[in-house]
Amino acid sequence: MPRGPIIVRTIKALDRAMANFRAAGETVALVPTMGALHAGHLALVRRARRADRVVASIFVNPAQFAPTEDFASYPRTFEADIAALRAERVDLVWAPPREVMYPEGFATSVAVKGPATVDLEDRFRPHFFGGVATVVAKLFGQCRPDIALFGEKDYQQLKTVTRMAADLDLKVKVIGVPTVREKDGLALSSRNVYLSPAERAVAPTLYRTLKESTARIAAGEPIVRVMSEGWIAIEAKGFAVDYFEARHAESLRRVETVDDGPLRLLVAARLGKTRLIDNMAV
Ligand code: AMP
Repeated sequence: MPRGPIIVRTIKALDRAMANFRAAGETVALVPTMGALHAGHLALVRRARRADRVVASIFVNPAQFAPTEDFASYPRTFEADIAALRAERVDLVWAPPREVMYPEGFATSVAVKGPATVDLEDRFRPHFFGGVATVVAKLFGQCRPDIALFGEKDYQQLKTVTRMAADLDLKVKVIGVPTVREKDGLALSSRNVYLSPAERAVAPTLYRTLKESTARIAAGEPIVRVMSEGWIAIEAKGFAVDYFEARHAESLRRVETVDDGPLRLLVAARLGKTRLIDNMAV
């Protein structure tokens, strides 16, 4: 069994550990997470191994949940998370308590535009990217990583964080990692535990529809027709669709034809009380 990661909960202890890495001339990768780790998170950790030291953060960030959302019930599995990170030989786990991340008097937030304001996730979760950008900017400031790994599963988040790191000269290279899926195509997510067995059985509809729709668009079918038929197919399985759209893969702006590409299809849909998102390159 590999030695466990150092678990750090104060800025002072974090500074000391990071200074030791730096003094040895080692590069550092950061994998930000909210815990409840699954194979998707661990794929990020594995990609992080290109750096000398791997730091994973575990912090369920209240700033990115609306009052109506699942902050209180979000799955928290700290002991299992540490065991999984130990098996991946992660060096350090940064797990700040809420009052360390947001001390009394905390009064700053990062305002993001560009890919954060394109009428996708931002339309349905208007608080979300500001909350993410603020905590990620803090994590970057706290850990000063050379690289940071984010999943393509949260594609708009990946583009938003990449933009923010560049715009604020945070000197960290943001790297996107392809989505890890179950055998039937469902994208792994900490929220999949909310699905009932019946919902779990239809959940891969998102993947299947993305796959079929990307293939049809690539084969030259008109985007509008493919997307509206895909929307109907998803709703026919019992989902309430928030969006199912073809966008420019970098800017996330609207597109009319494949010539406006590279394209990415993005979907968000609710199944019972669970909201699922997914996306795929054309
Ligand atoms: P979360 O704990 O949900 O905030 O996710 C932490 C990181 O893991 C984010 O960068 C996510 O995009 C990434 N992630 C979550 N699920 C997956 C997945 N199925 N495949 C790849 N990355 C993922």
